[in-house]
Amino acid sequence: MREFIIATNNEKKLIELDRILNPLGIRAVTAKSKGISLDDVEETGSTFMENARLKAKAAYEKSHLPVIADDSGLCVDALDGRPGIYSARYGGHDSPYQKKIEMLLCELEGVAEERRGAHFTCAVCCILSEDEVIEVEGYCYGSIATEPSGDGGFGYDPIFLADGRSFASLSDEEKDQRSHRGNALRALKEKLEEYLKKD
Ligand code: IMP
Repeated sequence: MREFIIATNNEKKLIELDRILNPLGIRAVTAKSKGISLDDVEETGSTFMENARLKAKAAYEKSHLPVIADDSGLCVDALDGRPGIYSARYGGHDSPYQKKIEMLLCELEGVAEERRGAHFTCAVCCILSEDEVIEVEGYCYGSIATEPSGDGGFGYDPIFLADGRSFASLSDEEKDQRSHRGNALRALKEKLEEYLKKD
């Protein structure tokens, strides 16, 4: 099996990527498991893709092994796309998600159901070698609930509704099927399949 470094400290992302890449003969591993320590990368980009690229480049420069990095977030229509690339930093980097959710619901107080549209975006940058880079994006469109529901998932899942159900009330498989990350990773898988065929 080939090994790809996943530039994340998020265990859930690693497991999700590993599950999707395994059928291609690729194992997703952390840099740490290869004895490489990745410094925290400042997300200074102005788009999801710019941030994913920054994280992938930093990991590739340190490891010289194939790497995958992603950047994702929630864009709310009535807030002109906020929190967007600042989703993790909304309400302060270390504030718990319960607080971020309360703040978001507060900002949307009084906003009618038909104006509560939102989407998640996930940008993925995969560096295979100096001159072989694959970049893909995935989206999931839905709306923001008026109150949290469900006890699964993470982050903003309890208030993001897709087909009338919150992400937090879906099973992992149901969420994967429709999520921004699932969509981005399926696009990545297709491109990697083409790349591996040529190889
Ligand atoms: P990052 O991509 O790890 O930088 O994090 C992006 C931010 O968006 C974090 O605050 C996540 O909680 C949030 N986010 C990204 N994907 C999801 C998701 O699938 N559900 C809920 N929140 C998400």
